Amino acid sequence: MPWDIAGHQTEVATLRSAVMSEQVAHAYMFSGVKGIGKARLARLFAQALLCEGSRSEAPCGSCRSCRRVENDVHPDLHWLTPMGSSFRIDQVRAMQAQISRRPYEGRYKICVLDDAETLTEQAQNSMLKVLEEPPGNGVLLLVLHQPTAILPTIHSRCQTVSMRPVATEVIAEWLLTKRDMTPQQAAFLAALSGGRPGVALDLDPETVVAHRDRVASWSQLLRRERLKAVWPIASELEAEKDIDAWLEMMMTWFRDIWHRFLDRGLPVTNIDAIQKLDEEAAGWQTAALQALVAIGEARRALSRNANKRLVLDVMLMRMQRGIP
Ligand SMILES: [Zn+2]
Repeated sequence: MPWDIAGHQTEVATLRSAVMSEQVAHAYMFSGVKGIGKARLARLFAQALLCEGSRSEAPCGSCRSCRRVENDVHPDLHWLTPMGSSFRIDQVRAMQAQISRRPYEGRYKICVLDDAETLTEQAQNSMLKVLEEPPGNGVLLLVLHQPTAILPTIHSRCQTVSMRPVATEVIAEWLLTKRDMTPQQAAFLAALSGGRPGVALDLDPETVVAHRDRVASWSQLLRRERLKAVWPIASELEAEKDIDAWLEMMMTWFRDIWHRFLDRGLPVTNIDAIQKLDEEAAGWQTAALQALVAIGEARRALSRNANKRLVLDVMLMRMQRGIP
């Protein structure tokens, strides 16, 4: 059975061959940005190591062991997350005690430290012993998005699995196997996720498309109504809880308009709305770039706690300044 993960085929191949040949390292470090699939890959690896089926097919996904790993109730898998803001030293000690025990029923005893960048230096130092004299069947998996937070002494004793952004088409195809949506919606969510399958999966297609359509209607309104559009749009935006998320979506929309205007085959995120983009590109022309700059400046001003309404009014007025 193929490993159920979007992309990362090289990493999957390396881990698979470790499982098949039983050449399993004592420690692995899964790193990459949030939502890229680190925890997913670590869990699949644990599943493959503990699977009761044939090693070449592991993880089978259906044996008792695979199901228990998936549901996080396998006695030989300890999936740990920080207590509060960081891993405490007593958590690390408890992990060491667990990993040194003989497996109950599987071939390996696996401990996962998820969000391992929160390990304090002290906690990391106390971990060194396990890595220097690894217990026979113990496998330690560190899952983290910030490898620089890990001491070089720990780093050098782990086999690293660095995970890079996944191609948009791969994510889109995978989304269609996971959720009920149209290929257009899948392509849009995949593009919006910036190569992070986990982020794409968490987005609700209906909501995201509805939000985007609202942004699209604003760009049309600004272009047609000019100053008259400023007050209503600023009021709508001001009422939103996460204004920055809305401005980010506006940036994506106007970047796409700009790319369509340039007509040089540059990538667009809103691939399900090409016709609307082209209409806007014809209307906005080079002003789309001015609009992008204005939105970017508004985001920076808001991050410095400037007056919300004032920033939005100025942004919308500056956006439309260069419309032909
Ligand atoms: Zn299995």
